[in-house]
Amino acid sequence: MKEKKERKKHRGRGWVFLLAVLALLLLTASVLTLLDARYVRFYMTGDEEITLEYGTEWKDPGVYAVTTGRLFGELPERLPVETLGGVDTKKLGTYVLRYKTRWLFNDYEAERRVVIVDTTPPVIELKTIEGYTPTWMTGYAEEGYTATDACDGDLTGKVRRTSEAERIIYTVSDSSGNSTTVVRELPDLHYDPPVLTLLGDEHITAEAGLSFEDPGCTAEDNLGNDLTGHIQVDSDVVPWLAGEYTIRYSIVSEEGMEVSALRRVTVTAKELPEENTPPAKTIYLTFDDGPGPYTEELLDLLKKYKVKATFFVTDQQPDYIDLIGRAFREGHSIGVHTKLHDYDYIYASEENYFSDFFAMEEIVYQQTGEHTKLFRFPGGSSNTVSRINPGIMTRLTQAMNDMGYQYYDWNIVSGDAGGTNKTKEIVQTIKDGCAEHRVSMILQHDIKDYSVAAVEPVIKWGLDNGYTFRAIELDSPAMHHGINN
Ligand code: ZN
Repeated sequence: MKEKKERKKHRGRGWVFLLAVLALLLLTASVLTLLDARYVRFYMTGDEEITLEYGTEWKDPGVYAVTTGRLFGELPERLPVETLGGVDTKKLGTYVLRYKTRWLFNDYEAERRVVIVDTTPPVIELKTIEGYTPTWMTGYAEEGYTATDACDGDLTGKVRRTSEAERIIYTVSDSSGNSTTVVRELPDLHYDPPVLTLLGDEHITAEAGLSFEDPGCTAEDNLGNDLTGHIQVDSDVVPWLAGEYTIRYSIVSEEGMEVSALRRVTVTAKELPEENTPPAKTIYLTFDDGPGPYTEELLDLLKKYKVKATFFVTDQQPDYIDLIGRAFREGHSIGVHTKLHDYDYIYASEENYFSDFFAMEEIVYQQTGEHTKLFRFPGGSSNTVSRINPGIMTRLTQAMNDMGYQYYDWNIVSGDAGGTNKTKEIVQTIKDGCAEHRVSMILQHDIKDYSVAAVEPVIKWGLDNGYTFRAIELDSPAMHHGINN
């Protein structure tokens, strides 16, 4: 029994010993671990901050991680490393790359900065045009250039161009402040001024008319460059008004130098015959605004009495236009009145007046085969409706006379244009008027039936009382009114 007990006791001692050894081992391991103080170390290839030029290729030079401790030093085993972040070399700026690993229960990190910069200046390219020669006119004209930058692209529009005497300096900067300057040396720029050569005479005399043809001028520089296209012409010629005028031709270089030439122009008036004084008791019957529905009847009547009259015609009623031809063939005088009788249009400008006048003159020519020189202004030369355009009657009367046309006013108003529509009164007005004048020019309108009806009584009375009826001729009294505009 006793022995059994002993053995039992022996076995209990062995367990205690084993436990004690284990505890000692654990304690030793812990102490060693504490003393070793193991941690993770990163090894980076290349610098922690790398500066790279815009647009170049980025390749991470790499990094690895191992553990190291005081007691046992670095272990060769490499830990897996994850890289966070990236680099875009096509975008300026600073990029941060984070390298990350995990060991035991902790995360470990390292950082690298990558800075993308632009230090490359833009490139300016100068173009040259083959055979290009500067002229006096332009001096040196730019042949062209381009500016490009790796980072900013096309910078041509931002080039500053400075002209000096014999060179041009081109400068441009990119957005990072890198700048480039290029110089173009210019060829010798000393040119003689161009020579202006007048075509035709230096002093030209022309008859008044609708237009004046300037024979022009040419310009050439001493290198044989034709500069005619650069000539500026300043002319005060009014072709329809007699007078002395000047045409100035000039050419101005880009630097503001000027060469000029002058031409004198004399516009002469066409001659009108001197006024002939008709015998006393001469009556000029004149009819405006036709032909119209009563013109035929009027022509028949005039034929019956062998009386000649004058028609200042219009194109207001084209259906009757051929009566102009009949009147002419029957010995009456035809003068232009107006094509459209539109005061606002014809007196708005000389050009408008001429356009209306000559359109009617052409119709008269087609009807009669002759170019008439006789006319009457709508409203007469003394009209005030033209005051919409101050002075135009003064200019038009002068211009028309200068161009060889004679205008005829009147000294007796029949009253048929608004005064009265009674034939009897018209007849009386005309008789009274004729009694007061040595020579009478009567204003009537053959588009008014009550006025046409007055013609026969007037003719009968006139013939019975020793009057002579005549058609207007270019030397007849023009009966000019005073100009009121
Ligand atoms: Zn009229």
